[in-house]
Amino acid sequence: MKYYSTNKQAPDASLEEAVVKGLAADKGLFMPYSIKPLPQDFYDSIDTLSFQEIAYRVADAFFGEDVPAETLKQIVYDTLNFDVPLVKVTEDIYSLELFHGPTLAFKDVGGRFMARLLGYFIRKEGKKQVNVLVATSGDTGSAVANGFLGVEGIHVYVLYPKGKVSEIQEKQFTTLGQNITALEIDGTFDDCQALVKSAFMDKELNEHLQLTSANSINVARFLPQAFYYFYAYAQLKKIGKANNAVICVPSGNFGNITAGLFGKRMGLPVKRFIAANNRNDIFYQYLQTGVYTPRPSIATIANAMDVGDPSNFARVLDLYGGSHAAISTEISGTTYTNEQIAETMRETWKECHYLLDPHGACGFRALKEGLKPGETGVFLETAHPAKFLETVEGIIGETVEIPAKLKAFMQGEKQSLSMTKEFADFKSYLLSL
Ligand SMILES: *Cc1c(COP(=O)(O)O)cnc(C)c1O
Repeated sequence: MKYYSTNKQAPDASLEEAVVKGLAADKGLFMPYSIKPLPQDFYDSIDTLSFQEIAYRVADAFFGEDVPAETLKQIVYDTLNFDVPLVKVTEDIYSLELFHGPTLAFKDVGGRFMARLLGYFIRKEGKKQVNVLVATSGDTGSAVANGFLGVEGIHVYVLYPKGKVSEIQEKQFTTLGQNITALEIDGTFDDCQALVKSAFMDKELNEHLQLTSANSINVARFLPQAFYYFYAYAQLKKIGKANNAVICVPSGNFGNITAGLFGKRMGLPVKRFIAANNRNDIFYQYLQTGVYTPRPSIATIANAMDVGDPSNFARVLDLYGGSHAAISTEISGTTYTNEQIAETMRETWKECHYLLDPHGACGFRALKEGLKPGETGVFLETAHPAKFLETVEGIIGETVEIPAKLKAFMQGEKQSLSMTKEFADFKSYLLSL
């Protein structure tokens, strides 16, 4: 499969080039030339298949031309070694729990898949060590680090801002050891990102080291997110609720929802999508006005959605030929304040005894307000509430049980290298490796 850039100013790329480069040379996002529909008999019998079987069929449509069948199957099965259950919250609203992976957030799916696919390309090319640089404000670092943990031929450097990530988040990427190194930067998230970008542009560094990025716009992180939309549909079908399915996605950079839109293009019978925003409602405003106006992000309690210029908006536009009418036919939007998010968490805990995290709360509320008669709603519960312990406990006024997996991280010993935000220091460190 060939990939083109959404900016249409860069040469086409193979899957391998798209995965290793991440971003096209013209700064556009890679898109596959075709999105293959899956046959009707697949949809007819989808409820008899396992999550791994379903995911492999979807992966084959995306990557089957470029990766041998047995290898691809292995990658998919290794990636999805945890379940994504559909859990009933109200009579017609279901939660797709994406937090049963190693770091308790949906980013595990893309992170684990990308690590394994990159590992395959490295072995195939006989490349020596590849170094993955990733800047994080919290969740991405842990999903990427844990996804790549122990993958041969790859070393991961996680750059994070000192004192600006929660203790739980920090532990998830500083306690791993092996092929993961955490670099604690005396600066902000933007400083970390600037260091990574400068490293990619530095000629001397790139002559010495094979560098690559694992940010969320990478096709190997983005496309595998389609897997669980198909599995959600299969679970709805099993309980006789697959007609008129509405899927609601708590959205920040819009990678997650875009993978769902790809699924629909492959024939997945989803009636419509809802993108739930917090106060960073650039997409919501676009739906209302037809004008896309990025603006600086503001901090909210659903912090993984604090994005002021969603990078995957370019993919949404491209998918619908730039048509605002086509986009707003298939996707609607909502926007919620911190107070509304907190109120939703409190009420849902009280009335349904279901504990939402602040991101999932936006999704649940959008369905509660926007579902029409005869529709069944599924919202993506993107992270476990215990990842936002203080916020969640403060809102519901009760202690929250911490899953064993998260506890295990908290018991580990933090190991990180302190570094200034000066590129010269970062560069000399990388050159000394
Ligand atoms: C990353 C993240 C989101 C936003 O997903 P996008 O693909 O960026 O839209 C939502 N919730 C949680 C918990 C996340 O970590």
